[in-house]
Amino acid sequence: MKPAAFEYIVPDSLEQALSILQEHGEEAKILAGGQSLVPAMNFRMLQPTLLVDLNKLEELDHIRRNEAGDLLVGAMTRHRRLEFDNLVAQYAPLLHESIPSIAHPQIRNRGTLGGSLVHADPAAELPVIALAVDAQIKVQSIGGERTIPSVEFFQGMFTTDINPDEILVEVAIPESSARTGWAFKEIARRAGDYAMMGIAVRITLDEDGVCEKACLVYLNAGDGPMEAVEAAKILEGQPRDDQAFEAAAEKASQDEIDPLGNMHANVDFQRHLANVLTLRALDLAFQRADVDRGENL
Ligand SMILES: Cc1cc2nc3c(=O)[nH]c(=O)nc-3n(C[C@H](O)[C@H](O)[C@H](O)COP(=O)(O)OP(=O)(O)OC[C@H]3O[C@@H](n4cnc5c(N)ncnc54)[C@H](O)[C@@H]3O)c2cc1C
Repeated sequence: MKPAAFEYIVPDSLEQALSILQEHGEEAKILAGGQSLVPAMNFRMLQPTLLVDLNKLEELDHIRRNEAGDLLVGAMTRHRRLEFDNLVAQYAPLLHESIPSIAHPQIRNRGTLGGSLVHADPAAELPVIALAVDAQIKVQSIGGERTIPSVEFFQGMFTTDINPDEILVEVAIPESSARTGWAFKEIARRAGDYAMMGIAVRITLDEDGVCEKACLVYLNAGDGPMEAVEAAKILEGQPRDDQAFEAAAEKASQDEIDPLGNMHANVDFQRHLANVLTLRALDLAFQRADVDRGENL
């Protein structure tokens, strides 16, 4: 398959890229890693007349911390760098844990954080992680910049709150509070495939081991990253407890997610997987929070 004809430009600066986007509007498309855009163009699902390649913009490829302790990750940071970076491992362990589940090393060598978030595939890992860690998403246009909480950024199937003249420039991941545990779990038919179901969990315990805050987000479970708010409420106020885990898993898998089913897994099987993965993820997240609390396992 070959794409429809298009023009191609490689800006030297963010300002130049932004003014090109302002001039060309919806006719132009940003090229990041190309791992989702190029296949869509080859299938002629997308036919932009101009590709604006961001790969020369080194200012969009960074990982650092700010004074508030947030981890700041540039939009053009490749999945591969996230997989091996020490700051990510230390300050965003949930993100770190999820990366090896994304496709294969060849794709992780090219794919970028910004590309995955803007593409907003409901089966993708990174939108789910962004929601679970309460990432703040910075977008920029010629007119200025906006910071969008991830809960508002994702608006449905392949749809986000970004305008054609805007570029996602950076993602800020707030530092976790003490006694926070996390887990990412997914099941795919084969290693590297998109998962049939997946979950990211983050829980924070108080000094007595009671859950203060819980967050459960599912992938391939609806038309975007699906947060199970009611299941989280079941866990909050409870210590580590199998019955609470089972009630939360039941609530999330039966009532809160809305899987669509596909050729690899029908809806009932996806709900079953969600239930099983929730139990496994909660167990691991509570264990990790307990370790952070100084408790022996
Ligand atoms: C065989 C295969 C298997 C895959 N498996 C998985 C998987 O298991 N899990 C998974 O999550 N993903 C998977 N992917 C997708 C991969 O992770 C992509 O890298 C990712 O979805 C898109 O990132 P990209 O940098 O390649 O973006 P691109 O393909 O370059 O762009 C994607 C979209 O985002 C827009 N865009 C890109 N960057 C910006 C920006 N900074 N600001 C505004 N708009 C922007 C583009 O215009 C385009 O619309 C797979 C891809 C392939 C080819």
